[in-house]
Amino acid sequence: MRRKIVAGNWKMHGSLQANAELLGALAAAPRAACEVVVCAPFPYLAQAQQRLAGSAVAWGAQDCSAHELGAYTGEVSVAMLGEFGCSHVIVGHSERRAYHGEADAVVAAKALRVLDAGMRPIVCVGETLQQRERDETEVVVGQQLDAVAHLLGARMSAVVLAYEPVWAIGTGRTATPAQAQQVHAFIRARLQHHGVEAETVPLLYGGSVKPDNAAELFAQPDIDGGLIGGASLKAADFLAIVSAA
Ligand code: PEP
Repeated sequence: MRRKIVAGNWKMHGSLQANAELLGALAAAPRAACEVVVCAPFPYLAQAQQRLAGSAVAWGAQDCSAHELGAYTGEVSVAMLGEFGCSHVIVGHSERRAYHGEADAVVAAKALRVLDAGMRPIVCVGETLQQRERDETEVVVGQQLDAVAHLLGARMSAVVLAYEPVWAIGTGRTATPAQAQQVHAFIRARLQHHGVEAETVPLLYGGSVKPDNAAELFAQPDIDGGLIGGASLKAADFLAIVSAA
C-alpha cells in the first residue's frame, strides 16, 4: 500500500514575512493522513527548517547541482541541502528543462546525487502541448523516465515520480483524471519493464491541482498524490488539497 504524498513547489515566490504565515499555518494544522512536503526556494530553507522542525510537515528544495562540490558558481550541492534538513529535492521540473536546458542525463545525475545524500528525489516528467497533440506523450515521458531508470537501476524504487504535463502547469488547464491516470498507468508499467518494484513507487500528478479537482485526481488508482505549484502558496488551498489526499 502506497502512502499518498502532497508536495508544494513554491517556485520563485515568497518572502520572510509571507513564509512565516504560511509555514506557521502548515505546522499548526492537524497531522494529515498523507505525507506533506514543502519545497521552498534555497534562501528560505533555514526558515522552513526552523518553522517546520518537530511538525508533521517535511521540507525540501526545488533543484540541486549535479556536481558534488567545486567551482560551479551559483549552484547548490545536495550536501548543503542536507545541512538544512531537506528530505526531498525536486529534479527535472519542466521549468528547469525549458529555461535552463536541463537534459535527461543531467536530471538523472541529479536524482542520483539526491539519493546518495540520503534524500528522496521528486523526478518530474511530462510532455508539452505540441507533443501531446502529435500523440508523442508516451514517447517523451518514456524517454525521460528511461534516462533516470538506466542510471539508478534498482535504486529507482526509492524515487518519487511526478507526471506534470507542461500544458497544465500554471495554466489552470488540468489534465482530466482519465488523461492523468492513463499516463500514470503507462509510467507504472514502464517501471515494471525496468525491473523496478513499480507498485511501491509513488506517482504524483502535477498541473493546476486545486482544492476543487484534487479529490477526483487522487482517487485514480495510479495517482498517489500531487505536486502543487500555485495552490501551495495559500495555506487554506494547500491544506484542502492535503485533506483530499
Ligand atoms: C508545478 O510547478 O509543479 C505545478 C504543478 O504548478 P501548478 O500547480 O501551479 O500548475
